[in-house]
Amino acid sequence: KANRKYHPDNSLVPVGNAVLGGKKLGIIAGPCSVESHEQILEVARSVQSSGACALRGGAYKPRSSPYSFQGLEKEGIHMLQEAREKTGLPIVTEIMSTDNVEMFEMCVDVIQVGARNMQNFDLLKQLGKTSKPILLKRGMSSTIEEWLMSAEYIMAGGNENVILCERGIRTFETFTRNTLDLSAIPAVKSLSHLPVLVDPSHSTGRAWMVESMAIAAIAAGADGLLIEVHNDPPNALCDGAQSITPDQFQALMEKLKAMAALV
Ligand code: PEP
Ligand code: MN
Repeated sequence: KANRKYHPDNSLVPVGNAVLGGKKLGIIAGPCSVESHEQILEVARSVQSSGACALRGGAYKPRSSPYSFQGLEKEGIHMLQEAREKTGLPIVTEIMSTDNVEMFEMCVDVIQVGARNMQNFDLLKQLGKTSKPILLKRGMSSTIEEWLMSAEYIMAGGNENVILCERGIRTFETFTRNTLDLSAIPAVKSLSHLPVLVDPSHSTGRAWMVESMAIAAIAAGADGLLIEVHNDPPNALCDGAQSITPDQFQALMEKLKAMAALV
């Protein structure tokens, strides 16, 4: 179902009132984690004024250490809903457990599957039964074929609204947090009709590299971007080093608007 051979036209996947996969770019932005009512609302308002089409923010966080901040969980979902109510921006957040599928389907606009759960097949099967678009990140050690097969799991269940997101893969290089696989963009665009986003934040791990990789991703044919923006990166509870400020995001958006129209 994800294969372009049987579906030559690009799929258009709804994100709120906008669609990804058409001629216009969709930029999803927000903090790595929801931290407070004030924080998420402040970031939501600023990314909205810069032209983002949706707000991201993690409430259930897949942290490498059990001692790191794990997210505000249900309370974080409520804060996202409140930010949506006040701004109108659709909300995108990561699901970690099959226990939360029903609650996510009810509360959020786009359900994100993180790199670490790309091959959580039980989760993928359950998401295939939901009515919400799924943002499927590439596993950090997954091939393009495996990634597309994970999309297939969701689509096989009946949910064909899948958005793919390249977020960097593990290589021998350690300068960057991951290695952004720019060549995956034209590869996946030729193999599949699904929209492809790029996450320049997790792929580099460095805020100062986000702008150049974002522009490169659009030049390579990505349908949009998923970018971490934080109001106070040095004090972020998660991923501050790769988070850009609202002002930096605004400057990047001006450059992107010169490349293509936004959804
Ligand atoms: C995220 O988007 O916050 C995240 C945890 O990303 P990934 O699953 O790509 O590591
Ligand atoms: Mn993050």
